[in-house]
Amino acid sequence: MATKRRVQQVHAWLTKISAGMEGDLVGLKRLVDNTGLKRRLQGSGLSTAEVYWAWAASRPERLQRMERGSRFLEVPDWRRQALGQLSVWEGRTAEAPSRVWEQERLQQRVLRALASVAGLEEGEDLLLEPGDARLAWHRVKGLFKGAGGYREFHQVIAVLMLRGKLEGPVDLEMGDWWEEVWAAEGRSGTGRQEVALDTAFHRIVVDFGAGTQCARALLGPGAIYVPLDTVRWVYSRKAGMMVENLVMDLSVGSAEDMWARIRELVLARLGVDLGGQPSSLVILWMSPPCKTFSRADSSNRIRGCGYRDHRHRSGMRPPLREGGKLTEKGRLAAAHDKMVQLWLEVAWEWQTKGVRWALENPVGSLVRRPYMRAMDGYIRQVDYCAYGRDDMKPTNIWTSVSGWNPVGTTGTGKCLGKGRCLAMQGSRHKRSVTGGRKAKAVGQGAQASKSEVPEMLLLEWARAEKEWNGVWHGVE
Ligand SMILES: [Zn+2]
Repeated sequence: MATKRRVQQVHAWLTKISAGMEGDLVGLKRLVDNTGLKRRLQGSGLSTAEVYWAWAASRPERLQRMERGSRFLEVPDWRRQALGQLSVWEGRTAEAPSRVWEQERLQQRVLRALASVAGLEEGEDLLLEPGDARLAWHRVKGLFKGAGGYREFHQVIAVLMLRGKLEGPVDLEMGDWWEEVWAAEGRSGTGRQEVALDTAFHRIVVDFGAGTQCARALLGPGAIYVPLDTVRWVYSRKAGMMVENLVMDLSVGSAEDMWARIRELVLARLGVDLGGQPSSLVILWMSPPCKTFSRADSSNRIRGCGYRDHRHRSGMRPPLREGGKLTEKGRLAAAHDKMVQLWLEVAWEWQTKGVRWALENPVGSLVRRPYMRAMDGYIRQVDYCAYGRDDMKPTNIWTSVSGWNPVGTTGTGKCLGKGRCLAMQGSRHKRSVTGGRKAKAVGQGAQASKSEVPEMLLLEWARAEKEWNGVWHGVE
């Protein structure tokens, strides 16, 4: 993978440049000030965050628990340790079979706990949401006895990530550490975007609910990516590392206020002024949180812990109530309803300024919500197996790009069904979203992310509007 190679390169540079440096904040500052490294960074397209990650990963022992002021600077060394554990697991180093088996069992237990709190079936790929890891910890902490248990738990999560079983935020205390690094750096933003851009001819991709940043595929050369989320650092399977989002509350405000806040944030973090209003150069990609709209929620309902009332006679999947009052999870579902409505308002308003938008959600409860009725003229349905994936994952996409008709590899963007769908073996897809216990991710496809929107789909959508593409650089 190209990213991996780049990071290896940076490792090599770091080792050379940082020889003799102390592994503390002073050392980091000197590293940051190194003009040779800066030059190389610009040429490599790497972000500063990636370099720090490389730095942290290669020198965890020295950086760990170094003083930060009178407090402590804690650097997570889980990635290195996790890689070590991974190689053990993969049998690259000699290890007693019983130990390997023990590790595997531990990983399965953690995976089950995570799947359970995330409201997913086992075998379905896991995209964690904020707080999931912490909740899962309470279910499995008995397995991690003694001091350092919580850390060990995170290492297991890291191994699962590196094995392609898991992605998302993990409640690591990384945030604090990065903040320190940014502060030490005296400026902020990612290297990739720290260029003075004339926004007049550059595409701006605004990503609501960026998560693992799959909408990055929409970027052409020189485009500005604005990944907005409530979580800053998220592990992306595709990138094989943590990706950084711009943190913003997307559940409040108005269309106008939202743009003003984005402009402010982007100016502060990326040093780019997006202008006083959105324009026809802006793409808005929206991925609402899936959890409370998920189909798997109905099986949770039976266990009495669902988000929505799947048996409500309206068929509209309202947030779950008990005795007339919203349950705790019902409240989250109601909050997500409110947020999606706000996003749609923003999309409508921005559309009058020329913005193209799309909102994606796996087929589930969202399409049944009453507020989506007004969007009926904008809906498409695709199957991800028609876009090169091993799972079907039927997905709704609402979009203002009227010229887009789903094609994919099948001509319709839909699964061809038994005997004809390339992603099927016998009567089922190689991977399954709702297939439950037997549908384990196996083989090559196991590394591919299932929570991500397929790149082919994103590009097909982006290319649909010819007039728009004429303005862009970088879209064929
Ligand atoms: Zn199919």
